Amino acid sequence: MMTLCFTGIRSFPKLWKSNPYLGLSLGHSYLSLFLKDCYGIREQRKWFSLKTVSAQNTKAVNLLVAKSRYVRKGDEGSNKEVSSDSHLFAAGAARKRSQMNPLREDHALPPVRNTIQLPTKPLNSEEWDKLKEDFKGDANFASWIISQMAHSRSSVDVAKSLLAWVAAKNNGIVGYDLLVRYLYLCVFHKQTSEVIDVYEIMKARYKRLEPGAYTLLIQGLVHSDRWKEALLLLEDVKKVLVPSVRNYNDCIEGALLHQDVSLAWNLYQELLGRDLIPMLKTLKAFFDFGKNVKDDQYSNKLLDILLYLRNNHLYPEESFAHSIKTWFESAPGEQWKGQFTTIKESGQCSGCGKTMESIHLSPEEYEFLKGKIMRDVIDGGDQYKKTTPQELKRFQNFVKCCPPFDIVIDGLNVAKTFPKARESQVLLDVVSQLAKQNLQLLVLGRKHMLTQHSRWRKDEMKKVQKQASCFFADNISEDDPFLLYATLQSGNHCKFITKDLMRDHKACLRDAKTQRLFFKWQQGHQLAIINRLTRSKITFQHIPSYNTVVQTTGDSWHIPYDEDTVERYSYEVPTKWLCLHRKT
Ligand SMILES: [Zn+2]
Repeated sequence: MMTLCFTGIRSFPKLWKSNPYLGLSLGHSYLSLFLKDCYGIREQRKWFSLKTVSAQNTKAVNLLVAKSRYVRKGDEGSNKEVSSDSHLFAAGAARKRSQMNPLREDHALPPVRNTIQLPTKPLNSEEWDKLKEDFKGDANFASWIISQMAHSRSSVDVAKSLLAWVAAKNNGIVGYDLLVRYLYLCVFHKQTSEVIDVYEIMKARYKRLEPGAYTLLIQGLVHSDRWKEALLLLEDVKKVLVPSVRNYNDCIEGALLHQDVSLAWNLYQELLGRDLIPMLKTLKAFFDFGKNVKDDQYSNKLLDILLYLRNNHLYPEESFAHSIKTWFESAPGEQWKGQFTTIKESGQCSGCGKTMESIHLSPEEYEFLKGKIMRDVIDGGDQYKKTTPQELKRFQNFVKCCPPFDIVIDGLNVAKTFPKARESQVLLDVVSQLAKQNLQLLVLGRKHMLTQHSRWRKDEMKKVQKQASCFFADNISEDDPFLLYATLQSGNHCKFITKDLMRDHKACLRDAKTQRLFFKWQQGHQLAIINRLTRSKITFQHIPSYNTVVQTTGDSWHIPYDEDTVERYSYEVPTKWLCLHRKT
């Protein structure tokens, strides 16, 4: 057996500061382990012996194929306009919008600094020597090459031959970063016996590890017979910091894999108790396991998970939606039937015809949200500190004296919608079109918009002022809080126009309930301009009539989910649904 001696013990706390696995900085290589072989150097082959392993990882290959397919798909769409039938919050709309921007960055890869071909099979000592000679970089060769290997998921046996070479050259010393990256590869390729070997090395020498190594060990151990030791590692992590949701996920998956259901639920409760948002795959694991459990208590817990998704505005991914469907349909005697579907503009499910919950806030919800925004964003938020108390007072008096508005327009933002057109012209076009519909309009602007300029013509601004109430703030003020205040003061019917999505304000609203209501209110009240074919024909994205959220009526469930091929921004909602109802 090999024993290990640790040098540089005084520097040990630094280990905690390094990033998880791949992020381990090369500067830590001085924190070396002695891999000292008690039986002589030849016995090292026992540790770093060459085994043949399958280098192919079909899942990773499939993922790459899927990704390249996705990129092609995205490119095809890059010249298309956002279609008018997808609303502002529809999944993928933001991505399409960004693709419309001709100035979008090219996501080219950084230039490769060192063009050493990574070995694809284990090398012997001479071959490693030769490769090192070819290496022209400044970095330590072994550290550099192991990080490249980790990056490109080299096979375990190649990495092992590198470690054997390093150990032989260095009197059995293998750098910590080398060992952790080797562990990473073992875990990635699911080489459980190798994981256990590295685990033994680390356990023998260290009282504590850094979080990256714990995460890897937990991930590697849960698939083995020694999965319970992963829980001990979790306990070790807890002594220093809050375990990550990934740590919990791995332990829960391990527990379910080994049929310890109550342990899995306990870990889940502990995770929630720490105010962590579980990974969706953790929730999916409970549904997948549930197919084989016939137990009301377990079923109720799964329904609680669905309500958790609802309350936290979370959406399952496609595979999770399939798991939910399968679980419902597997319930004996319940006769559930699931189908993947969409919701019509009217809010009706195309599958079963039921109407989804309305996007409109109830009077109670509206008053609650209004009160919160007034307190947290407008009075307490940082944004309003950018204005003066005098201006704030002037604005509040202005809003109180005017009739309630139907639409509040972020003048500056709207005017910049079409970069080629003159700003005052665009603003005038929008205002004129809306004024024709007899809507009470408020335009929020800045004082500089009233100064004659090639982009801000006085005559056009005069016409704007004739058709709409206008408030011009100091040039330094933030518009958003004014926009929120004027819209909310006007009542639940009032809409607003801006391209800005006000994510900052959402962050000011501290509790989940308010954030949820804000999101719902925003979806139901924000108008965005999508097109301007002619001066008098400006199209707005339609506002959905229904709320995109997990919902139930007892004998039916409707669950929006994310498609694998659609990239959704955090402020967008999915467009695909899982419809579940009891057969009657
Ligand atoms: Zn339905």
